[in-house]
Amino acid sequence: MIKKINHIGIAVQSLDERIPFYRDVLGLSLTGTETVADQKVRVAMFRVGDVTIELLEPTDPESPIAKFMEKNGEGMHHVSYQVDDLEKQIADVVDKGVRMIDPVPRPGAHGTRIAFLHPKSTGRVLTELTEE
Ligand code: ZN
Repeated sequence: MIKKINHIGIAVQSLDERIPFYRDVLGLSLTGTETVADQKVRVAMFRVGDVTIELLEPTDPESPIAKFMEKNGEGMHHVSYQVDDLEKQIADVVDKGVRMIDPVPRPGAHGTRIAFLHPKSTGRVLTELTEE
């Protein structure tokens, strides 16, 4: 079952260039940065109530974030919903006709497990499920 939005992912060319907008202009607190090797990104996290804003900077030209920005430029990348039981939620959406990018969970930032739904099944909104 989906409980809440866990985070919103935003693709950026450079964390150093974009962090000041979120920290200094919006006044959000930077709660940490982390490299997620599996996705070839460096992540900066800002907490807004229950939701985290994640800025995603590619660490490699082969990163999915680098490829996204080749097509779309910087901007909104994905919305992540928090679930209790990731395998169960995947099985449920697949049952309902959704195609998964990740039929099997993979490691996300800060010890989470994640799985992406295919944008063709979601009206082009890249949608992620996160289990904390
Ligand atoms: Zn995410």
